[in-house]
Amino acid sequence: MAKLYFRYGAMNSGKSTALLQAAYNYEERGHRVLIAKPATDTKGDHGIVSRLGVNRAVDFLIEPGQSLREAFWSRAEAAPGPEPVSCLLIDEAQFLSRSQVDDALRIALVDGIPVLAYGIRTDFLTAAFPGSRRLLEVAHSLEELKTICRCGRKAIFNARLVNGFFVFDGDQVAIDGDHVTYESLCGACYLEESDGRLGDHVSV
Ligand SMILES: [Zn+2]
Repeated sequence: MAKLYFRYGAMNSGKSTALLQAAYNYEERGHRVLIAKPATDTKGDHGIVSRLGVNRAVDFLIEPGQSLREAFWSRAEAAPGPEPVSCLLIDEAQFLSRSQVDDALRIALVDGIPVLAYGIRTDFLTAAFPGSRRLLEVAHSLEELKTICRCGRKAIFNARLVNGFFVFDGDQVAIDGDHVTYESLCGACYLEESDGRLGDHVSV
């Protein structure tokens, strides 16, 4: 039986690198994969951006409100090769909607194609993203990708900085770029920076 996998971690835990490695492993054995990401993630345009410098274009973008299953099959059947798709890999899966995650589960269970979703568990106010929450609920397999806080402990939260200063108010989604950056922190360092706040003001 094909399964839905959720591999999650704080920012900078190497999720995109792990995704590209998984794609490579499939392809090395002669399998065809499709790579997708939600259009919400504008970083890298239509690409997967890995911090190790390996980048790759996605096969399709998942638009808000779009059926993931339909998008997957229309891309799979418009294929450049005769061989069927062996695996769907999704980057930035936290930006999927709840129903798109349900579609990912159907692709695994009904269509028999394994789906590997990579994403961040929580936003900058420590609340789950909608896609991550649903993945935590329904994925067959959960695997944490670890990264280290500046103090050496395991980082679990993603603190947001605007122009270099920590902020604890704002929209749930702000893609990192020139002004907005993120630092992966352990719980203790997060509480120190937030003055004890733990995400009581999530504006979605
Ligand atoms: Zn720390």
